[in-house]
Amino acid sequence: MRMTVLASGSKGNSTVIASANTQILVDAGLSCREILKRMRLAGEDPAALSAILITHEHQDHVAGLATLARRLRIPVYFTEPTHRAWVRMVTPRTTMTYAQWLDQLQAEREARAQAMPARQATSPQRYHPEHSVTPGPPASSLADAERRRPEDPAIQLQASASDADDEGDTPKPDPSSLPAVEYFHSGANFSIGDISITPFTIPHDAADPCGFVFESHTERIRMAVATDLGYMPPNVKAALRRIDVLLLESNHDLDMLRDGPYPWSVKQRVLSRVGHLSNHATAEFLARDYDGSAAWIVLGHLSEQNNDPSLALISAEQAIGGRMTLLGNRLLLASQAAPLAPICV
Ligand SMILES: [Zn+2]
Ligand SMILES: [Zn+2]
Repeated sequence: MRMTVLASGSKGNSTVIASANTQILVDAGLSCREILKRMRLAGEDPAALSAILITHEHQDHVAGLATLARRLRIPVYFTEPTHRAWVRMVTPRTTMTYAQWLDQLQAEREARAQAMPARQATSPQRYHPEHSVTPGPPASSLADAERRRPEDPAIQLQASASDADDEGDTPKPDPSSLPAVEYFHSGANFSIGDISITPFTIPHDAADPCGFVFESHTERIRMAVATDLGYMPPNVKAALRRIDVLLLESNHDLDMLRDGPYPWSVKQRVLSRVGHLSNHATAEFLARDYDGSAAWIVLGHLSEQNNDPSLALISAEQAIGGRMTLLGNRLLLASQAAPLAPICV
């Protein structure tokens, strides 16, 4: 079995989990282009991916999702609340202010007046004298956009330019359209190819966030992804037993976060029970609850502002202590900037 961390951190997360016959992408938090680039850099074949699994709908986990899934024509696995939240997030808002609504109404009246058949147009406009004013550009760009039809070349041009990733010259599709969507439930095991997957709930400020345990049917190797959690509840501790390769969050150093540049409200969010694991909390788990079974522990989702990779590493090393050996409990740091070499067990 193989784990390849393509990126980890608040600017984007994506990891390949592979058995001999099945390859799955966990999260797509970089642009489609960047994910494909990093896969090739790490020696992973994008065409071999069977599915994309989503932990939660935060931007750093879904940024390239729709484009990538459409490009590779593969299904996306979500929990239903996460899928719903993601659809809401990518669907453009259609609400408008009262003033904009009045403008739109006025523009529509003008358009109707202009489109009136000649015999009516020649009759005196006694009911709507205001319509005789010189027709000019519509009062509101919203109303303008509303009246333009999708085949308007100007709109197509904008669409293909803004979707920088790769949709090419084709008109922009519905932002929430995916080749296929599959739902899973936290706690309920399911399989993709020869990989068995157990999702578990994590405490985080998203609709229905989860981590995953992956087990290959043939090799009996187990890998886990557990990032974006405010603390280590009993169900997560239980899920992370007998894991061979563990991607575990070590987000921030408490002192650096407290003294750092984040506004107080953001500091509160990160520190909360639905925020992120500190180096200290991760060390506490490793020292007290972790069963010592992993060949590799990858520390991930490190904050670039509020952590120092050497601090995260020292903290975890001290917690693992004498259990670190040549073949067991080796530590790695996942990076935001570049993929890690594949970890094979
Ligand atoms: Zn995240
Ligand atoms: Zn998150």
